[in-house]
Amino acid sequence: MDFNLPPEVEQMRRAVLDFAHDVVEPRAHEIEATNRVPDDLTRAAADLGLFGLSIPEEYGGLGLDMVSKCALYEALGHAHMGFGGVISAHASIGTTGLVTLGTEEQKRRFLPRMATGETIAGFAITEPTSGSDAANIRTRAERRGDVFVLSGTKHYISNAPVAGLLTVIAVTDPTQGARGMSALLVEMDTPGVRVGRIDEKMGQRGALSAEVIFEDAEIPAANLLGPLHGGYREALKILTNGRVGIAARATGSMAHLVELGVAHARTREQFGRPIADFQAVQFMLAEMQVDVVTSRATWQYVAWLVDQGRSVGMEASAAKLHATEALSRVADKAVQIAGGMGYMKDYPVERWYRDQRLLRIYEGTSEIQKVIIARSLLQ
Ligand SMILES: Cc1cc2nc3c(=O)[nH]c(=O)nc-3n(C[C@H](O)[C@H](O)[C@H](O)COP(=O)(O)OP(=O)(O)OC[C@H]3O[C@@H](n4cnc5c(N)ncnc54)[C@H](O)[C@@H]3O)c2cc1C
Repeated sequence: MDFNLPPEVEQMRRAVLDFAHDVVEPRAHEIEATNRVPDDLTRAAADLGLFGLSIPEEYGGLGLDMVSKCALYEALGHAHMGFGGVISAHASIGTTGLVTLGTEEQKRRFLPRMATGETIAGFAITEPTSGSDAANIRTRAERRGDVFVLSGTKHYISNAPVAGLLTVIAVTDPTQGARGMSALLVEMDTPGVRVGRIDEKMGQRGALSAEVIFEDAEIPAANLLGPLHGGYREALKILTNGRVGIAARATGSMAHLVELGVAHARTREQFGRPIADFQAVQFMLAEMQVDVVTSRATWQYVAWLVDQGRSVGMEASAAKLHATEALSRVADKAVQIAGGMGYMKDYPVERWYRDQRLLRIYEGTSEIQKVIIARSLLQ
């Protein structure tokens, strides 16, 4: 196992880290106030290649293996989590289905504009009556001649208000349950496709999610992604891949919180000395660092397995579960180390504490990751 990055990827990792620290984080107040990622930050991310993280070079992307891609996700984890959320919903679940399943024509049509961030992408499976139980979705895509007529409602769809393209999972044969679903590439400007209510969330401001409503929208049959009726299985693969990226991003966010904790502990004085002198504070920092190291080792191992062509359903769940639960522990300690300041809006850990909570919920809750892991042991 070799986790050394090629020199050009290492250079890019450093560039993304600098971008996160020096460019995005100083703009956090603006993102919080406006609930939007400023256009110039989106352009700067595009210039760095972040929208093309999962896209092969021949379509304008970075053409990275999984270990390299996740190393960049970890660096991105140091940035405002809403900002990172926009990029990862696009580059991970929004893009990987098209890259792995798309026909040459579909890839040529969409990927180059996705690589530059001109087209923002997303992925839609969740519905108001079907979240964890994703095999019970109701959105229907009925084949009529050259089109699929799409009707139904998705909700909590990341990037929907800014997206040009969604990979939508819909029922194509209602008699077959999970074996009767297909993935469709849905262009958001298709008549009959509209964005409904934009969610008011606890955190991750700037990363907009919303309802998406399909009212007899006619989706060209040429936009079928992957096998007819094979959409559920493919959706699970997209989500599995995404979980490794989430683990990497969570690791970066933890590392960032350790940096904030160390800086605060060194400068804040009580009882006439820096609080870093107190072993209680040192132990909190040490426990935070253990979570960084173990989460990093886990995503690296699982990403390496992906690069070996191995199937990683259980391992990806373990990586996501471990890293996102660890991030919650780390964020809690970061607040504790900062004392009262940690509870104040003008100190960043308050925001990180809120923002990180989502990672234990989306792309499969912690409980669903345990279901997947237990099933792999007991089947
Ligand atoms: C901000 C945000 C962005 C999102 N982005 C997207 C997106 O881009 N695309 C998309 O398709 N979806 C997206 N989601 C949806 C997300 O994946 C779901 O919210 C998540 O899978 C949980 O589904 P649910 O909300 O319906 O909760 P429920 O499924 O109702 O779960 C409620 C609780 O019950 C538990 N539970 C449910 N079933 C079981 C079980 N079998 N065993 C044990 N416990 C169980 C859950 O773990 C949870 O604690 C997003 C959600 C949020 C909040």
